[in-house]
Amino acid sequence: MPRPLLTARVAALRQQRIAQQRLRVRRDVLRRDGMRCEVRLADGSTRWLLDFCGNDYLGLARHYSVSSTLQDEAARSGAGGVASHLVCGHHAAHTALEQAVADWLQAPAALLLGSGYLANLAVIQGLLGKDDVCVQDRLNHASLIDGARLAGCTLRRYPHADPEGALRQLRAAPDGAALLASDGVFSMDGDVAPLRALALIARAQRATLYIDEAHATGVLGEEGRGSVAAAGLDHTAVPLRLVTLGKALGGYGALVVGDADLVRHLAETARPYIYTTALPPALAAASLAAVQRARRDGWRRTRLAELIATFRAGARRLGLPLLDSDTPIQPLHCGDDASALALAQALEAQGIWVGAIRPPTVPEGRARLRITLSAAHTEAHLRTLLDALARVHDLLAGATARPGTDI
Ligand SMILES: *Cc1c(COP(=O)(O)O)cnc(C)c1O
Repeated sequence: MPRPLLTARVAALRQQRIAQQRLRVRRDVLRRDGMRCEVRLADGSTRWLLDFCGNDYLGLARHYSVSSTLQDEAARSGAGGVASHLVCGHHAAHTALEQAVADWLQAPAALLLGSGYLANLAVIQGLLGKDDVCVQDRLNHASLIDGARLAGCTLRRYPHADPEGALRQLRAAPDGAALLASDGVFSMDGDVAPLRALALIARAQRATLYIDEAHATGVLGEEGRGSVAAAGLDHTAVPLRLVTLGKALGGYGALVVGDADLVRHLAETARPYIYTTALPPALAAASLAAVQRARRDGWRRTRLAELIATFRAGARRLGLPLLDSDTPIQPLHCGDDASALALAQALEAQGIWVGAIRPPTVPEGRARLRITLSAAHTEAHLRTLLDALARVHDLLAGATARPGTDI
């Protein structure tokens, strides 16, 4: 057999994705005005859509204090990080952000990394090796799965939100060191992990509990400290947490927060920390401003909670297939990929932008519309969304899967 040609293989795979309604394309956002954005469509035309798919839960991404801090610090220190942290790229703005986030989360230490994706690779690669085990919820974010692959450890997964399943998997791998990792708020479902039960199991099994707070930071708990704090747990029960800066904090980057010795070990050894350029200090400074806002502006969380309640009440009245979520992630279950795409397209025709989330991001047969809410949405925006959903719902009532083009 001759060696397969990669170009031929990718062409065949793309045809397969098209046939399965799984093509994914980017689209250019030309301008943003609050929660509205002007986008360029596939035919080259442009139109304004109302954003119900971003993760800017607190409305901080375009906040004046955040963007002006970014500009001021960029004027002082430039646009780039210049080098990796351990060479000469570590800046006072990085340390200031680490200290502010450790203080916010009432934890001993924090380490700033390039992104949440890199941070999850760093934690698992930095702590586990081939004789160790990483036990994970089946619906964990892809970056946690990839971290276990990079570490070369054994990956064992348990049924979603099932602490007994986690216990079984830990018991089945009694020899190596163990990390028990879970999303705090699940990114595609919006539900919260059974954190107290996981903490008990981790302690009993001498496993280190690691909670990914990407969608909980700024949103849940007092002062927005996240799902761990909201569950009444601290850094002794959860020695490591991931805070991302790209979602509720409206910026870019991530921090691993927790036990000082574990955090220092990552800073000194984790490959995804060492072998990459430091985050631009201006971004770190802007994120520090966002952290202060997120802490202080309790009204943003109150507002978000009101919008979530209004949306759920409205969706329930329409008989929509809501999932059990009290967070700003409010998915509507569609089942097959074609229905999710058709629904997203029908909403787009009414000026609403939501993501049609399909496998492999979610399990087979679990395609959904992932609607996300932000404190920057208005009551009028929500009414527009619910009116559009009412029309689309009628449109699709009783309909079976039908072809749709790509979103
Ligand atoms: C978005 C996300 C990440 C990755 O964070 P980035 O900063 O965007 O790389 C990690 N974990 C979860 C659960 C996420 O939703």
